[in-house]
Amino acid sequence: MYIVQIASECAPVIKAGGLGDVVYGLSRELETRGHCVEIILPKYDGMRYDHIWGLHDAYRELWVPWYGAAIHCSVYCGWVHGRVCFFIEPHSGDNFFNRGCYYGCSDDNMRFAFFSKAALEFLLQSNKRPDVIHCHDWQTGLVPVMLFEMYKYHGMGNQRVCYTIHNFKHQGIGGNEILSATGLNQEGYYFQYDRLRDNFNPFALNFMKGGIVYSNAVTTVSPNHAWEAHYTDIGCGLSHTLHLHQDKFRGILNGIDDDFWNPKKDRYIPYNYTKDNLEGKAKNKKALQERLLLQDVDKPIVAYIGRLDGQKGVHLVHHAIYYALSKGAQFVLLGSATEPEINSHFRHEKYFLNDNPDCHLELGFNEELSHLIYAGADMIIVPSNYEPCGLTQMIGLKYGTVPIVRGVGGLVNTVFDRDYDENHLPEQRNGYVFYQTDYNALESTIDRAIGLWDNYPEEFRQLVLQGMEYDYSWNHPGKEYLEVYEQIRHK
Ligand code: ADP
Repeated sequence: MYIVQIASECAPVIKAGGLGDVVYGLSRELETRGHCVEIILPKYDGMRYDHIWGLHDAYRELWVPWYGAAIHCSVYCGWVHGRVCFFIEPHSGDNFFNRGCYYGCSDDNMRFAFFSKAALEFLLQSNKRPDVIHCHDWQTGLVPVMLFEMYKYHGMGNQRVCYTIHNFKHQGIGGNEILSATGLNQEGYYFQYDRLRDNFNPFALNFMKGGIVYSNAVTTVSPNHAWEAHYTDIGCGLSHTLHLHQDKFRGILNGIDDDFWNPKKDRYIPYNYTKDNLEGKAKNKKALQERLLLQDVDKPIVAYIGRLDGQKGVHLVHHAIYYALSKGAQFVLLGSATEPEINSHFRHEKYFLNDNPDCHLELGFNEELSHLIYAGADMIIVPSNYEPCGLTQMIGLKYGTVPIVRGVGGLVNTVFDRDYDENHLPEQRNGYVFYQTDYNALESTIDRAIGLWDNYPEEFRQLVLQGMEYDYSWNHPGKEYLEVYEQIRHK
């Protein structure tokens, strides 16, 4: 099968979070299974050019219709750790992708509406006719809309779209200007409730809703999150739309890339290890303590890796730092915040804890360091308010780092409480789960984890090994996505 992914991220060249990992990991799995995959991305100024091999201009004269005129673009091609990627670079005063950031601009909706249009125009003009176009999140929600309302009539009648939602919180909202810019025009038509009109704001168009309505299949990134989005307010206003389209909606758990996230061959950690050789993990712990100037003592290390924002339960992250320290553990945090208040809050904490020999807060994005933390820590905490899938707990399991998570979204599908899970046998359990968002729930769960480490080291080691047994690679999800592609391809 010939599959084209259209996305705003692809790890490690463009990565703001899990979306990037998914686009890369799924593409690799599909290729391993013998399918042809190409990835279309924006050419951002700030991407990691050092991860692209053989970048060259592949298509110089791409003219993308925009506001009744056209914007000249160049398309570059290169290999990102073996994946073929096309990067679209527009030449216009809007400077859509030369902003020093991936997201967070006031015209993000225009930037990604343009990218969606340019990606389709590239497929059309370069005569690429994939069997399946796989789009991701709000940024590419307009791809199926434009494909089935415009491009279908220009020689792209056989293409089918699978649309994956990684985060319902950000849906992409715009007004009439989106229609004028993209050439969709026909305001009365697109502002209908069963098309793009936002479910709660009658004057707004919703990109993600467009993606759901027009795509042949819609997925989100875990079965439990699919249920939450359909039946609770986690769908952020799109529950009714999902309900109307429930026959084509399902949850497929994300995987983690077995090549990139694998303690056996991880290039970023000083000591490779497997579950038969956990001494390697102990050495990485020492290396982590040394690198972050933590005192060299025999204490458990509790880690947090992730964005610092409301979704991730920052109030609980903050509390976990002080509680774990008070219980005699060390704490390592690697996180970046986009909201200024959260950023300055954690900067203040960093300053305050600067001289504490048991704690290190690293604010910013650091891929290399994240690998050493997964390898060196004993426990990883994921206290999210909501979590569509969550990769950090799965990576933690793979690296023998016991996850302590809040039971929401994909965390429910991947972490099974050592003491209380009723659906898994004791030998299948792999971590700790709490449900409430108050401090008590968090504290008692941290107590259980640290208590086991302190008092029953053999049993803690057994829990580590049970977690490492889990296969959360792309093997299963790859199969499931192929099933979806096959279904829609023949419709
Ligand atoms: P989300 O997509 O909501 O950000 P996920 O758990 O799905 O969260 O994916 C997070 C991914 O980003 C993981 O691969 C994690 O290791 C990585 N990550 C998050 N924050 C950082 C950071 N500050 N530095 C390095 N890697 C990070």
